[in-house]
Amino acid sequence: MRTSDRMNDAIVIYEKSVSGRKGYTLPDTNKSEEKILSAIPSRFLRSEAASLPEVTEGEAMRHFISLSTKNHHIDKGFYPLGSCTMKYNPKLNDVAASFAGFLECHPLAPHKSTSGILRLLWNLKKYLAEISGFPSVSLQPVAGAHGEFSGLLIMHAYHLDKGSQRSKIIIPDSSHGTNPASVNSVGFKTVMVKSNDKGIISPKAVAEVMDDDVAGMMMTNPNTLGIFETNIKEIAEIVHEGGGLLYMDGANLNAHMGIFRPGDVGFDIMHFNLHKTLSTPHGGGGPGAGAIAVTAELDPFLPYPVLEKDAEGDLFYSYDRPKSIGRLHSFYGNFAMMVRAYAYIRTLGGEGLRRVSENAVLNANYLKELIREDYELPYDVPCMHEFVVSGMPQKKYGVRTLDISKRLLDFGVHPPTNYFPLIVPEAIMVEPTETESRETLDRFAEIMKQIAKEARETPDIVTSAPHDTPVRRLDEVGATRNLDVSFED
Ligand SMILES: *Cc1c(COP(=O)(O)O)cnc(C)c1O
Repeated sequence: MRTSDRMNDAIVIYEKSVSGRKGYTLPDTNKSEEKILSAIPSRFLRSEAASLPEVTEGEAMRHFISLSTKNHHIDKGFYPLGSCTMKYNPKLNDVAASFAGFLECHPLAPHKSTSGILRLLWNLKKYLAEISGFPSVSLQPVAGAHGEFSGLLIMHAYHLDKGSQRSKIIIPDSSHGTNPASVNSVGFKTVMVKSNDKGIISPKAVAEVMDDDVAGMMMTNPNTLGIFETNIKEIAEIVHEGGGLLYMDGANLNAHMGIFRPGDVGFDIMHFNLHKTLSTPHGGGGPGAGAIAVTAELDPFLPYPVLEKDAEGDLFYSYDRPKSIGRLHSFYGNFAMMVRAYAYIRTLGGEGLRRVSENAVLNANYLKELIREDYELPYDVPCMHEFVVSGMPQKKYGVRTLDISKRLLDFGVHPPTNYFPLIVPEAIMVEPTETESRETLDRFAEIMKQIAKEARETPDIVTSAPHDTPVRRLDEVGATRNLDVSFED
Protein backbone atom coordinates (compact mmCIF):
# COMPACT_ATOMS: atom_id res chain seq x y z
CA MET A 1 0.00 0.00 0.00
CA ARG A 2 1.27 3.44 -0.92
CA THR A 3 0.37 6.11 1.55
CA SER A 4 1.00 9.80 1.30
CA ASP A 5 2.42 11.80 4.17
CA ARG A 6 -0.98 13.17 5.09
CA MET A 7 -2.38 9.73 5.88
CA ASN A 8 0.57 9.15 8.14
CA ASP A 9 -0.41 12.24 10.13
CA ALA A 10 -3.65 10.52 11.01
CA ILE A 11 -1.85 7.42 12.20
CA VAL A 12 0.82 9.31 14.09
CA ILE A 13 -1.79 10.76 16.42
CA TYR A 14 -1.73 7.51 18.36
CA GLU A 15 1.86 8.21 19.16
CA LYS A 16 0.69 11.31 20.97
CA SER A 17 -0.45 8.94 23.67
CA VAL A 18 1.05 9.98 26.98
CA SER A 19 0.86 7.68 29.96
CA GLY A 20 -1.74 8.88 32.46
CA ARG A 21 -3.41 11.39 30.14
CA LYS A 22 -7.13 10.82 29.88
CA GLY A 23 -10.31 12.11 28.31
CA TYR A 24 -12.88 11.11 30.95
CA THR A 25 -13.73 11.49 34.61
CA LEU A 26 -15.70 8.96 36.61
CA PRO A 27 -18.28 10.02 39.15
CA ASP A 28 -17.04 10.14 42.75
CA THR A 29 -18.75 7.08 44.15
CA ASN A 30 -16.80 6.74 47.39
CA LYS A 31 -15.67 3.44 46.05
CA SER A 32 -12.09 2.68 45.37
CA GLU A 33 -11.16 1.28 41.99
CA GLU A 34 -10.55 -2.06 43.69
CA LYS A 35 -14.07 -2.15 45.03
CA ILE A 36 -15.50 -1.49 41.57
CA LEU A 37 -13.31 -4.17 40.06
CA SER A 38 -14.20 -6.70 42.73
CA ALA A 39 -17.87 -6.29 41.79
CA ILE A 40 -17.10 -7.58 38.27
CA PRO A 41 -16.80 -11.37 37.97
CA SER A 42 -13.15 -12.22 37.38
CA ARG A 43 -13.81 -14.08 34.13
CA PHE A 44 -14.69 -10.72 32.56
CA LEU A 45 -11.47 -9.04 33.65
CA ARG A 46 -8.21 -8.95 31.72
CA SER A 47 -5.03 -9.84 33.55
CA GLU A 48 -3.19 -6.95 31.91
CA ALA A 49 -4.59 -3.54 31.12
CA ALA A 50 -5.57 -3.13 27.45
CA SER A 51 -3.06 -1.07 25.58
CA LEU A 52 -5.15 1.87 24.46
CA PRO A 53 -4.00 5.31 23.41
CA GLU A 54 -4.07 7.71 26.33
CA VAL A 55 -5.20 11.08 25.02
CA THR A 56 -7.39 13.97 26.09
CA GLU A 57 -10.92 14.39 24.80
CA GLY A 58 -9.75 17.26 22.60
CA GLU A 59 -7.07 15.16 20.95
CA ALA A 60 -9.46 12.27 20.40
CA MET A 61 -11.97 14.66 18.84
CA ARG A 62 -9.37 16.10 16.46
CA HIS A 63 -8.32 12.62 15.48
CA PHE A 64 -11.80 11.49 14.50
CA ILE A 65 -12.82 14.76 12.87
CA SER A 66 -9.61 14.65 10.85
CA LEU A 67 -10.36 11.10 9.74
CA SER A 68 -13.93 12.02 8.82
CA THR A 69 -12.74 14.76 6.51
CA LYS A 70 -10.20 12.50 4.81
CA ASN A 71 -12.98 10.14 3.89
CA HIS A 72 -15.43 11.05 1.14
CA HIS A 73 -19.06 11.16 2.19
CA ILE A 74 -22.31 12.60 0.95
CA ASP A 75 -22.21 15.47 3.45
CA LYS A 76 -18.85 16.50 1.98
CA GLY A 77 -19.27 16.21 -1.76
CA PHE A 78 -21.05 14.84 -4.83
CA TYR A 79 -21.42 11.05 -4.73
CA PRO A 80 -22.90 9.80 -8.03
CA LEU A 81 -22.35 6.10 -7.28
CA GLY A 82 -24.75 4.35 -9.68
CA SER A 83 -27.28 1.93 -8.22
CA CYS A 84 -26.50 3.09 -4.67
CA THR A 85 -28.74 6.20 -4.54
CA MET A 86 -26.33 8.29 -2.50
CA LYS A 87 -28.76 11.14 -1.97
CA TYR A 88 -28.63 13.70 0.80
CA ASN A 89 -30.13 12.29 4.00
CA PRO A 90 -32.14 14.93 5.86
CA LYS A 91 -30.82 15.29 9.42
CA LEU A 92 -34.38 15.52 10.66
CA ASN A 93 -34.63 11.74 10.14
CA ASP A 94 -31.59 11.15 12.36
CA VAL A 95 -33.12 13.35 15.03
CA ALA A 96 -36.35 11.33 14.91
CA ALA A 97 -34.44 8.03 15.07
CA SER A 98 -32.63 9.18 18.19
CA PHE A 99 -35.70 10.13 20.25
CA ALA A 100 -35.19 8.61 23.68
CA GLY A 101 -38.48 6.70 23.46
CA PHE A 102 -37.12 4.85 20.43
CA LEU A 103 -33.50 4.51 21.47
CA GLU A 104 -34.10 3.32 24.98
CA CYS A 105 -36.97 0.94 24.35
CA HIS A 106 -36.06 -2.71 24.86
CA PRO A 107 -37.14 -4.82 21.89
CA LEU A 108 -38.76 -7.32 24.27
CA ALA A 109 -40.80 -4.68 26.11
CA PRO A 110 -44.47 -5.73 26.35
CA HIS A 111 -46.69 -4.72 23.44
CA LYS A 112 -48.88 -2.59 25.65
CA SER A 113 -45.98 -0.30 26.55
CA THR A 114 -44.66 0.02 22.99
CA SER A 115 -47.87 0.87 21.19
CA GLY A 116 -46.38 4.07 19.71
CA ILE A 117 -43.51 2.15 18.17
CA LEU A 118 -45.81 -0.54 16.83
CA ARG A 119 -48.05 2.11 15.33
CA LEU A 120 -45.11 3.67 13.53
CA LEU A 121 -44.19 0.26 12.08
CA TRP A 122 -47.81 -0.45 11.13
CA ASN A 123 -48.10 2.87 9.31
CA LEU A 124 -44.75 2.41 7.59
CA LYS A 125 -45.95 -0.95 6.29
CA LYS A 126 -49.12 0.74 5.06
CA TYR A 127 -47.11 3.42 3.22
CA LEU A 128 -44.79 0.87 1.64
CA ALA A 129 -47.82 -1.15 0.53
CA GLU A 130 -49.30 2.00 -1.03
CA ILE A 131 -46.03 2.93 -2.78
CA SER A 132 -45.42 -0.57 -4.14
CA GLY A 133 -48.97 -1.71 -4.91
CA PHE A 134 -48.66 -4.88 -2.81
CA PRO A 135 -51.02 -5.70 0.09
CA SER A 136 -48.46 -7.28 2.46
CA VAL A 137 -45.13 -6.03 3.76
CA SER A 138 -42.46 -7.41 6.11
CA LEU A 139 -39.96 -4.98 7.59
CA GLN A 140 -37.64 -7.66 8.92
CA PRO A 141 -34.86 -8.09 6.28
CA VAL A 142 -31.88 -5.85 6.99
CA ALA A 143 -30.41 -5.25 3.50
CA GLY A 144 -31.47 -5.37 -0.11
CA ALA A 145 -29.64 -8.67 -0.50
CA HIS A 146 -31.36 -9.97 2.63
CA GLY A 147 -34.71 -9.02 1.09
CA GLU A 148 -33.75 -11.00 -2.04
CA PHE A 149 -32.83 -13.96 0.14
CA SER A 150 -36.21 -13.75 1.92
CA GLY A 151 -38.10 -13.42 -1.37
CA LEU A 152 -36.38 -16.48 -2.81
CA LEU A 153 -37.11 -18.47 0.36
CA ILE A 154 -40.75 -17.46 -0.10
CA MET A 155 -40.65 -18.74 -3.70
CA HIS A 156 -39.20 -22.01 -2.44
CA ALA A 157 -41.87 -22.32 0.30
CA TYR A 158 -44.63 -21.48 -2.19
CA HIS A 159 -43.64 -24.27 -4.56
CA LEU A 160 -43.19 -26.78 -1.73
CA ASP A 161 -46.66 -25.85 -0.50
CA LYS A 162 -48.00 -26.69 -3.95
CA GLY A 163 -46.23 -30.02 -3.75
CA SER A 164 -43.50 -29.26 -6.27
CA GLN A 165 -39.78 -28.62 -6.03
CA ARG A 166 -38.30 -26.32 -8.63
CA SER A 167 -34.60 -25.67 -8.95
CA LYS A 168 -34.02 -22.71 -11.31
CA ILE A 169 -34.33 -18.92 -11.20
CA ILE A 170 -34.13 -16.77 -14.37
CA ILE A 171 -31.94 -13.67 -14.10
CA PRO A 172 -31.08 -11.00 -16.72
CA ASP A 173 -27.43 -10.50 -17.67
CA SER A 174 -27.74 -6.89 -16.44
CA SER A 175 -28.70 -7.93 -12.91
CA HIS A 176 -27.00 -6.70 -9.76
CA GLY A 177 -24.42 -9.14 -8.36
CA THR A 178 -26.49 -9.76 -5.26
CA ASN A 179 -29.23 -11.41 -7.38
CA PRO A 180 -27.25 -14.47 -8.51
CA ALA A 181 -25.55 -14.57 -5.09
CA SER A 182 -28.94 -14.75 -3.34
CA VAL A 183 -30.11 -17.41 -5.80
CA ASN A 184 -27.06 -19.44 -4.95
CA SER A 185 -27.45 -18.94 -1.18
CA VAL A 186 -30.98 -20.32 -1.26
CA GLY A 187 -29.82 -23.33 -3.28
CA PHE A 188 -31.38 -22.50 -6.63
CA LYS A 189 -29.52 -22.51 -9.94
CA THR A 190 -29.24 -19.39 -12.09
CA VAL A 191 -30.47 -19.30 -15.69
CA MET A 192 -29.16 -16.19 -17.44
CA VAL A 193 -31.19 -14.31 -20.09
CA LYS A 194 -29.55 -11.73 -22.34
CA SER A 195 -30.73 -8.14 -22.63
CA ASN A 196 -31.64 -7.13 -26.20
CA ASP A 197 -30.05 -4.33 -28.24
CA LYS A 198 -32.30 -1.79 -26.47
CA GLY A 199 -30.86 -2.85 -23.10
CA ILE A 200 -34.05 -4.56 -21.87
CA ILE A 201 -35.37 -8.14 -21.65
CA SER A 202 -37.60 -9.39 -24.45
CA PRO A 203 -40.51 -11.73 -23.68
CA LYS A 204 -39.14 -14.13 -26.30
CA ALA A 205 -35.86 -14.56 -24.41
CA VAL A 206 -37.80 -15.46 -21.26
CA ALA A 207 -40.14 -17.84 -23.10
CA GLU A 208 -37.11 -19.71 -24.46
CA VAL A 209 -35.82 -20.62 -20.99
CA MET A 210 -39.11 -20.92 -19.07
CA ASP A 211 -39.96 -24.49 -18.11
CA ASP A 212 -41.58 -26.36 -15.21
CA ASP A 213 -38.32 -26.46 -13.28
CA VAL A 214 -38.17 -22.66 -13.10
CA ALA A 215 -39.32 -21.41 -9.69
CA GLY A 216 -39.34 -17.79 -10.77
CA MET A 217 -37.57 -14.86 -12.31
CA MET A 218 -35.84 -11.82 -10.79
CA MET A 219 -35.90 -8.47 -12.57
CA THR A 220 -34.69 -5.02 -11.62
CA ASN A 221 -36.80 -2.13 -12.82
CA PRO A 222 -35.55 0.23 -14.01
CA ASN A 223 -32.70 -2.14 -14.73
CA THR A 224 -29.08 -1.50 -13.91
CA LEU A 225 -28.60 0.35 -17.22
CA GLY A 226 -31.13 2.84 -15.86
CA ILE A 227 -33.62 1.74 -18.54
CA PHE A 228 -37.28 0.96 -17.90
CA GLU A 229 -38.25 -2.65 -18.67
CA THR A 230 -41.27 -2.08 -20.92
CA ASN A 231 -42.15 -5.77 -21.41
CA ILE A 232 -42.97 -6.63 -17.81
CA LYS A 233 -46.62 -7.52 -18.38
CA GLU A 234 -45.79 -10.00 -21.15
CA ILE A 235 -42.90 -11.43 -19.15
CA ALA A 236 -45.12 -11.80 -16.07
CA GLU A 237 -47.66 -13.72 -18.16
CA ILE A 238 -45.02 -16.10 -19.46
CA VAL A 239 -43.56 -16.73 -16.01
CA HIS A 240 -46.99 -17.17 -14.40
CA GLU A 241 -48.26 -19.46 -17.15
CA GLY A 242 -45.25 -21.65 -16.53
CA GLY A 243 -46.14 -21.76 -12.81
CA GLY A 244 -43.33 -19.43 -11.66
CA LEU A 245 -43.23 -16.22 -9.62
CA LEU A 246 -41.82 -12.83 -10.63
CA TYR A 247 -39.52 -10.99 -8.21
CA MET A 248 -38.63 -7.33 -8.48
CA ASP A 249 -35.34 -6.03 -7.15
CA GLY A 250 -36.66 -2.66 -5.98
CA ALA A 251 -33.32 -1.02 -5.19
CA ASN A 252 -34.04 1.46 -7.99
CA LEU A 253 -37.36 2.61 -6.57
CA ASN A 254 -36.00 6.16 -6.45
CA ALA A 255 -36.86 6.31 -10.16
CA HIS A 256 -40.59 5.72 -9.99
CA MET A 257 -42.26 6.45 -6.66
CA GLY A 258 -45.80 7.61 -7.23
CA ILE A 259 -45.52 6.85 -10.95
CA PHE A 260 -45.20 3.09 -11.36
CA ARG A 261 -46.26 0.40 -8.86
CA PRO A 262 -44.67 -3.05 -9.26
CA GLY A 263 -47.69 -4.71 -7.63
CA ASP A 264 -49.94 -3.45 -10.43
CA VAL A 265 -48.12 -5.07 -13.36
CA GLY A 266 -47.63 -8.70 -12.39
CA PHE A 267 -44.74 -8.83 -9.92
CA ASP A 268 -45.33 -11.14 -6.96
CA ILE A 269 -42.55 -10.09 -4.58
CA MET A 270 -40.24 -7.11 -4.29
CA HIS A 271 -37.74 -5.68 -1.88
CA PHE A 272 -37.15 -2.04 -0.98
CA ASN A 273 -33.81 -0.59 -0.04
CA LEU A 274 -35.13 1.72 2.65
CA HIS A 275 -31.57 2.94 3.23
CA LYS A 276 -31.25 4.05 -0.40
CA THR A 277 -34.64 5.28 -1.53
CA LEU A 278 -36.06 6.46 1.77
CA SER A 279 -32.86 8.00 3.09
CA THR A 280 -30.57 6.52 5.69
CA PRO A 281 -26.84 7.28 5.67
CA HIS A 282 -25.46 4.08 4.15
CA GLY A 283 -22.43 2.50 2.55
CA GLY A 284 -19.45 0.87 4.16
CA GLY A 285 -21.42 -2.28 4.88
CA GLY A 286 -24.53 -1.09 6.64
CA PRO A 287 -26.68 -1.12 8.62
CA GLY A 288 -29.53 -1.27 6.15
CA ALA A 289 -33.18 -2.17 5.83
CA GLY A 290 -34.53 -4.32 2.99
CA ALA A 291 -38.28 -4.61 3.59
CA ILE A 292 -40.17 -6.95 1.27
CA ALA A 293 -43.67 -6.72 -0.15
CA VAL A 294 -45.75 -9.59 -1.55
CA THR A 295 -49.13 -10.43 -3.07
CA ALA A 296 -51.98 -11.63 -0.83
CA GLU A 297 -51.35 -15.18 -2.01
CA LEU A 298 -47.78 -15.08 -0.63
CA ASP A 299 -48.65 -13.37 2.67
CA PRO A 300 -48.71 -16.64 4.70
CA PHE A 301 -45.04 -17.26 3.82
CA LEU A 302 -43.69 -13.93 5.14
CA PRO A 303 -41.06 -14.14 7.89
CA TYR A 304 -42.45 -14.11 11.43
CA PRO A 305 -43.24 -12.46 13.76
CA VAL A 306 -45.83 -10.47 11.82
CA LEU A 307 -47.39 -7.27 13.16
CA GLU A 308 -51.14 -7.82 13.55
CA LYS A 309 -54.15 -6.21 15.21
CA ASP A 310 -56.05 -8.06 17.95
CA ALA A 311 -59.84 -7.96 18.50
CA GLU A 312 -59.57 -4.62 20.33
CA GLY A 313 -57.52 -3.10 17.53
CA ASP A 314 -54.27 -3.23 19.54
CA LEU A 315 -51.11 -4.08 17.66
CA PHE A 316 -48.99 -7.11 18.58
CA TYR A 317 -46.39 -9.38 17.02
CA SER A 318 -47.93 -12.70 16.00
CA TYR A 319 -45.88 -15.91 15.83
CA ASP A 320 -48.82 -18.00 14.71
CA ARG A 321 -47.74 -18.34 11.10
CA PRO A 322 -47.48 -22.06 10.24
CA LYS A 323 -46.39 -21.49 6.62
CA SER A 324 -43.82 -18.78 7.42
CA ILE A 325 -40.27 -19.11 6.13
CA GLY A 326 -39.25 -18.36 9.74
CA ARG A 327 -37.22 -15.68 11.39
CA LEU A 328 -34.51 -13.86 9.46
CA HIS A 329 -33.15 -11.49 12.08
CA SER A 330 -33.14 -10.91 15.79
CA PHE A 331 -36.16 -8.97 17.02
CA TYR A 332 -37.88 -7.01 14.23
CA GLY A 333 -35.10 -5.80 11.91
CA ASN A 334 -33.16 -2.53 11.99
CA PHE A 335 -35.68 -0.31 13.70
CA ALA A 336 -33.82 3.03 13.48
CA MET A 337 -33.82 2.77 9.69
CA MET A 338 -37.56 2.28 9.74
CA VAL A 339 -37.98 5.47 11.78
CA ARG A 340 -35.90 7.35 9.20
CA ALA A 341 -37.93 5.94 6.31
CA TYR A 342 -41.14 6.82 8.13
CA ALA A 343 -39.97 10.37 8.84
CA TYR A 344 -38.89 10.77 5.21
CA ILE A 345 -42.24 9.59 3.85
CA ARG A 346 -44.22 11.73 6.30
CA THR A 347 -42.13 14.81 5.53
CA LEU A 348 -42.56 14.54 1.76
CA GLY A 349 -46.01 13.00 1.45
CA GLY A 350 -47.27 11.28 -1.68
CA GLU A 351 -46.83 14.30 -3.95
CA GLY A 352 -43.35 14.90 -2.58
CA LEU A 353 -42.25 11.32 -3.22
CA ARG A 354 -43.43 11.61 -6.80
CA ARG A 355 -41.43 14.82 -7.22
CA VAL A 356 -38.36 13.03 -5.81
CA SER A 357 -38.58 10.52 -8.63
CA GLU A 358 -39.37 13.07 -11.32
CA ASN A 359 -36.35 15.14 -10.32
CA ALA A 360 -34.09 12.10 -10.02
CA VAL A 361 -34.99 11.18 -13.61
CA LEU A 362 -34.64 14.76 -14.83
CA ASN A 363 -31.20 15.15 -13.23
CA ALA A 364 -29.95 11.90 -14.74
CA ASN A 365 -31.13 12.78 -18.26
CA TYR A 366 -29.70 16.29 -17.98
CA LEU A 367 -26.29 14.96 -16.94
CA LYS A 368 -26.36 12.23 -19.57
CA GLU A 369 -26.84 14.81 -22.31
CA LEU A 370 -23.94 16.88 -20.95
CA ILE A 371 -21.35 14.11 -20.95
CA ARG A 372 -22.44 11.86 -23.80
CA GLU A 373 -20.24 13.68 -26.31
CA ASP A 374 -17.03 12.71 -24.54
CA TYR A 375 -18.02 9.26 -23.33
CA GLU A 376 -19.72 6.61 -25.42
CA LEU A 377 -23.43 6.07 -24.72
CA PRO A 378 -24.07 2.37 -25.49
CA TYR A 379 -27.86 2.55 -25.15
CA ASP A 380 -29.09 5.84 -26.57
CA VAL A 381 -32.53 6.01 -24.98
CA PRO A 382 -34.04 8.30 -22.33
CA CYS A 383 -32.85 7.00 -18.97
CA MET A 384 -34.57 6.78 -15.64
CA HIS A 385 -32.70 7.80 -12.46
CA GLU A 386 -29.26 6.70 -13.67
CA PHE A 387 -27.37 6.04 -16.88
CA VAL A 388 -24.36 4.12 -18.07
CA VAL A 389 -21.65 5.48 -20.35
CA SER A 390 -18.51 3.70 -21.44
CA GLY A 391 -14.88 4.75 -21.10
CA MET A 392 -14.03 2.98 -24.39
CA PRO A 393 -13.14 6.26 -26.22
CA GLN A 394 -10.46 6.90 -23.58
CA LYS A 395 -9.08 3.37 -23.70
CA LYS A 396 -7.22 4.02 -26.96
CA TYR A 397 -5.07 6.56 -25.09
CA GLY A 398 -4.24 3.99 -22.44
CA VAL A 399 -6.70 5.47 -19.96
CA ARG A 400 -9.16 3.11 -18.35
CA THR A 401 -12.38 3.69 -16.45
CA LEU A 402 -10.58 3.00 -13.20
CA ASP A 403 -8.11 5.81 -14.01
CA ILE A 404 -10.95 8.23 -14.78
CA SER A 405 -12.50 7.38 -11.43
CA LYS A 406 -9.23 7.92 -9.59
CA ARG A 407 -8.78 11.25 -11.33
CA LEU A 408 -12.26 12.36 -10.21
CA LEU A 409 -11.05 12.05 -6.61
CA ASP A 410 -8.61 14.91 -7.24
CA PHE A 411 -11.64 17.13 -7.88
CA GLY A 412 -13.36 16.13 -4.64
CA VAL A 413 -15.97 13.98 -6.37
CA HIS A 414 -16.76 10.38 -5.51
CA PRO A 415 -16.46 8.27 -8.68
CA PRO A 416 -19.49 6.68 -10.32
CA THR A 417 -19.88 2.89 -10.17
CA ASN A 418 -17.25 1.21 -12.38
CA TYR A 419 -17.32 -1.89 -14.57
CA PHE A 420 -20.98 -2.54 -13.81
CA PRO A 421 -23.28 -3.60 -15.34
CA LEU A 422 -21.00 -6.23 -16.81
CA ILE A 423 -22.58 -6.01 -20.27
CA VAL A 424 -21.03 -2.57 -20.92
CA PRO A 425 -17.24 -2.57 -21.43
CA GLU A 426 -15.44 0.04 -19.29
CA ALA A 427 -18.80 0.93 -17.75
CA ILE A 428 -19.27 4.20 -15.87
CA MET A 429 -22.63 4.19 -14.11
CA VAL A 430 -23.82 7.57 -12.92
CA GLU A 431 -26.70 8.25 -10.51
CA PRO A 432 -26.87 11.94 -9.63
CA THR A 433 -30.09 11.69 -7.49
CA GLU A 434 -32.68 14.40 -7.04
CA THR A 435 -30.90 16.19 -4.20
CA GLU A 436 -28.14 17.71 -6.37
CA SER A 437 -28.38 21.23 -7.75
CA ARG A 438 -27.99 22.15 -11.39
CA GLU A 439 -24.67 23.85 -10.52
CA THR A 440 -23.31 20.59 -9.09
CA LEU A 441 -24.35 18.67 -12.19
CA ASP A 442 -22.79 21.30 -14.48
CA ARG A 443 -19.56 21.23 -12.48
CA PHE A 444 -19.41 17.42 -12.63
CA ALA A 445 -19.94 17.51 -16.40
CA GLU A 446 -17.13 20.07 -16.73
CA ILE A 447 -14.79 17.84 -14.73
CA MET A 448 -15.70 14.80 -16.84
CA LYS A 449 -14.99 16.83 -19.98
CA GLN A 450 -11.68 17.99 -18.60
CA ILE A 451 -10.67 14.40 -17.79
CA ALA A 452 -11.63 13.35 -21.33
CA LYS A 453 -9.36 16.14 -22.64
CA GLU A 454 -6.53 15.07 -20.35
CA ALA A 455 -6.94 11.49 -21.57
CA ARG A 456 -6.36 12.74 -25.12
CA GLU A 457 -3.58 15.21 -24.40
CA THR A 458 -1.82 14.32 -21.14
CA PRO A 459 -2.93 10.79 -20.26
CA ASP A 460 -0.22 10.40 -17.60
CA ILE A 461 -2.08 12.82 -15.35
CA VAL A 462 -5.07 10.51 -15.43
CA THR A 463 -3.28 7.19 -15.17
CA SER A 464 -1.21 8.34 -12.20
CA ALA A 465 -4.19 9.83 -10.32
CA PRO A 466 -5.18 10.50 -7.63
CA HIS A 467 -2.57 13.13 -6.80
CA ASP A 468 -4.33 15.06 -4.11
CA THR A 469 -5.96 12.60 -1.72
CA PRO A 470 -4.83 11.42 1.74
CA VAL A 471 -4.09 7.99 0.26
CA ARG A 472 -3.35 7.14 -3.36
CA ARG A 473 -4.12 3.85 -5.11
CA LEU A 474 -4.89 1.18 -2.58
CA ASP A 475 -4.75 -2.57 -2.78
CA GLU A 476 -8.53 -2.84 -2.58
CA VAL A 477 -8.66 -6.62 -2.81
CA GLY A 478 -5.97 -6.95 -0.15
CA ALA A 479 -7.84 -4.50 2.07
CA THR A 480 -10.95 -6.68 2.10
CA ARG A 481 -9.16 -10.04 2.20
CA ASN A 482 -6.77 -9.05 4.98
CA LEU A 483 -8.90 -6.59 6.88
CA ASP A 484 -6.97 -5.06 9.75
CA VAL A 485 -8.84 -2.58 11.90
CA SER A 486 -6.36 -2.47 14.77
CA PHE A 487 -4.39 0.73 15.35
CA GLU A 488 -1.40 -1.30 16.47
CA ASP A 489 1.17 -2.72 14.10
C1 LIG B 1 -27.86 -1.93 -3.70
C2 LIG B 1 -28.52 -2.92 -4.58
C3 LIG B 1 -28.81 -4.21 -4.12
C4 LIG B 1 -28.36 -4.74 -2.78
O1 LIG B 1 -28.76 -3.99 -1.68
P1 LIG B 1 -27.93 -4.05 -0.32
O2 LIG B 1 -28.76 -3.30 0.64
O3 LIG B 1 -26.60 -3.42 -0.60
O4 LIG B 1 -27.79 -5.50 0.05
C5 LIG B 1 -29.49 -5.05 -4.98
N1 LIG B 1 -29.83 -4.68 -6.22
C6 LIG B 1 -29.54 -3.44 -6.70
C7 LIG B 1 -29.97 -3.08 -8.09
C8 LIG B 1 -28.87 -2.53 -5.89
O5 LIG B 1 -28.58 -1.32 -6.37
